[in-house]
Amino acid sequence: MADIFVVVEHRKGEVRDITFEMLFKASELCKESSHNLTAILLGGRDSAFLDDIAPWADRVITLEDERLENYNPDLYKEILHRLIQKHHPFLTFIGHTSFGMGFAPALSVKSGYPIATDCIDILIDNGRPMVTRQIYNGKVFSKDSFRESEGYIITLRQAVCTPEKTEERRGEVFKSELPPDLPEPRQEFMEFVEAGAGEVDISQADLLVSIGRGIGEEENVATVKELADLLGGVISCSRPVVDKNWLPSYHQVGTSGKSVKPKVYLALGISGAFQHVAGIAGAGTVIAVNKDKKAPIFRVSDYGIVDDLFKVVEALKVKLSG
Ligand SMILES: Cc1cc2nc3c(=O)[nH]c(=O)nc-3n(C[C@H](O)[C@H](O)[C@H](O)COP(=O)(O)OP(=O)(O)OC[C@H]3O[C@@H](n4cnc5c(N)ncnc54)[C@H](O)[C@@H]3O)c2cc1C
Repeated sequence: MADIFVVVEHRKGEVRDITFEMLFKASELCKESSHNLTAILLGGRDSAFLDDIAPWADRVITLEDERLENYNPDLYKEILHRLIQKHHPFLTFIGHTSFGMGFAPALSVKSGYPIATDCIDILIDNGRPMVTRQIYNGKVFSKDSFRESEGYIITLRQAVCTPEKTEERRGEVFKSELPPDLPEPRQEFMEFVEAGAGEVDISQADLLVSIGRGIGEEENVATVKELADLLGGVISCSRPVVDKNWLPSYHQVGTSGKSVKPKVYLALGISGAFQHVAGIAGAGTVIAVNKDKKAPIFRVSDYGIVDDLFKVVEALKVKLSG
């Protein structure tokens, strides 16, 4: 019986959602394959969140040191490499986040374990992992297998599942010190820089009217803003709208923008790239308007309208004003 490792991701004293998503996926695999679920927690002294993690895993291997209080990709790579050499895990789960992607590829090179990045699902087929990924901007799913290896590494995309604790695990905790001979990291944590909330905080809005590249031109932003005002909502957007300077960056939803949780999310001319969709995992009702009926946004929508967004915007404005 081998281990399935899950590398805990935390920031500013809080465990990130991706950790529980990975623990959930890993526990499903453990049920089918009788592997042991081992959470790897690298953190500062007396990590307050050890208790949150333990019930999800068969055991937690935790290394505590001031140098691990904040994320350091060099230290993560080196420590995980040593843990892999010692325990030979069958599979190592790392978040497909800026945190995980900071060390996962380097860990794969160092350990010689093959890696599949940005996976949205995983199963074990004939003793080997098989992963599902999206290609062509989310329009096609591909199933990929690995070359034969003692162990494998995958990075899991955020928000591809809703973690649910189906069984209590024993959560034995093994604490250890940092190895004394770790090489000096080349990268150093400096500080957290919070994104300015600006004039609106889209993460607190109940109703978001969100625009994407489909808006076409800067002049059209005002038309949608009028609709947002009539609805009593707030305007948000995808990244190209920010890149073109049509709206300030604090309106951006997604992995490099903000995660939002409105009751209603109206997506106008947004294709539904995963970097965008990851930011609306907490949204209530998602309504999408897109003239391409194959746009990936429809996969995550409760209601979809295949039409020109301007027709829909005008029709709504007429209805609301009259
Ligand atoms: C590291 C990284 C981080 C990223 N972070 C983010 C992020 O945080 N947030 C984010 O949004 N993106 C992010 N991206 C970009 C992301 O990959 C996509 O490129 C982006 O989300 C696409 O934005 P879009 O849907 O507005 O544009 P497009 O993909 O170009 O889609 C435009 C859509 O509008 C539709 N359309 C066009 N005209 C009309 C019309 N008149 N009526 C109706 N529909 C119409 C089209 O059919 C199309 O589906 C990131 C990318 C990288 C590499």
